[in-house]
Amino acid sequence: MIRTARRTAMDHIRELSVGIGPRPSTGPGEREAAEYIRGVMESIDQGSAKVHPFRCLVSGWRPFAWASAMALAAEGSFLIAGVPGAVAAIVICACAFVFAILQLLFIPNPLMAMVGKGDSQNVWMKIGAGGDPGAEGGVKAKVPAEPGQRLVITAHYDTHRTPLAYSSPFWIRVFRSLTTAGMGAYLMLIVLFAVALFGGSGSVLAVAAKWVSLVPGAIHVLVLGLTFEADTTPHTPGANDNASGAGVLLELAARLTEKPLAGTEVWIVATGCEEVGLYGAQAFFADFKTELRGAMQINIDNIAGTDCGPCYIDEEKMLGTYRSDPELLRLADAIAADQPDMGARRTSYQGAYTDGAIGIKHGLPAITFLGLNRTGWIPNVHQMTDVIEHCDADVVARVTDFIEILTRRIDEERPHEL
Ligand SMILES: [Zn+2]
Repeated sequence: MIRTARRTAMDHIRELSVGIGPRPSTGPGEREAAEYIRGVMESIDQGSAKVHPFRCLVSGWRPFAWASAMALAAEGSFLIAGVPGAVAAIVICACAFVFAILQLLFIPNPLMAMVGKGDSQNVWMKIGAGGDPGAEGGVKAKVPAEPGQRLVITAHYDTHRTPLAYSSPFWIRVFRSLTTAGMGAYLMLIVLFAVALFGGSGSVLAVAAKWVSLVPGAIHVLVLGLTFEADTTPHTPGANDNASGAGVLLELAARLTEKPLAGTEVWIVATGCEEVGLYGAQAFFADFKTELRGAMQINIDNIAGTDCGPCYIDEEKMLGTYRSDPELLRLADAIAADQPDMGARRTSYQGAYTDGAIGIKHGLPAITFLGLNRTGWIPNVHQMTDVIEHCDADVVARVTDFIEILTRRIDEERPHEL
């Protein structure tokens, strides 16, 4: 193999974000990117690339827009019909609240039936364990060794829209507060409808409940407005989010094929439809549940921001908290301490989930590399400014090296043997 002819992570980032451009979940750009990734995997190891098709929702925003619309319908029936409408309002609002919670926990619920579905795919390849390189004179063994460990490395390749909610630090703050306030507003409405019902028609309680209910009602008007607006916006070229992760993934695939891990089988998985609800990862971990029992996961997302890495997270939090594996964190911490010039750091993430949450949900010890800046945010995320010019090639190189070192450390130390 001629090393200089191999495309680097930055080449892949350029091809995905400039050559292909926006890659909407379930859309033609995503399919084109899948074909590109399949081609790269084939060029690394002929016959290795596999396509894993699945169907999923076309929007991550629309289920929540529907839930808020249900809460507003409940409020409307209460405002118009008064106490006689309160029972129906409680039922509708309670359903909307429960469905929204289920949606946030990746659990099927009726909101999903209200949103259109489309076809997507994961693209993946296996790199067999190389056996003892000494015994083969440093050459990959012809017959792959029986792996003592299995490691899945994931990165998504679809891109998000460019909603108002992500357009500036002000709107990001507004949106973050609204996600919490929105959940509280469902409960507030239910309580107020119940208070009116308890007080009875014409009572002071019923009148007061009507007026106070305008506050949670207004919150749902804002939530509905922002979640509806999101689906009217164009998609970003997604250089950092997440051509960067996919680029590093493909470069690691080349490096680990050239010099395989001795006793660790590696699955390289480029996931589709992360941006609308982590559906690619959900489909993959569900369909390969048996083979992946006992495996580990490294997830790579948004890693190319200046001053953003290598950065790995110990937890990701929204409604639930998904914690990274202590052993994988220990190994990453040790590398960061041994090689301070790499500038690696550990942090926590709040406000959204990555594909890492799905591995953790399926019981895999996992760690996610996510390029957060010092304010805890991803630069240019879900904006038109997420372009190749804002990707830092030095950070990409360091993240690639760091993760390669981590995989080789995992191979040596065997933290999670099968
Ligand atoms: Zn994203």
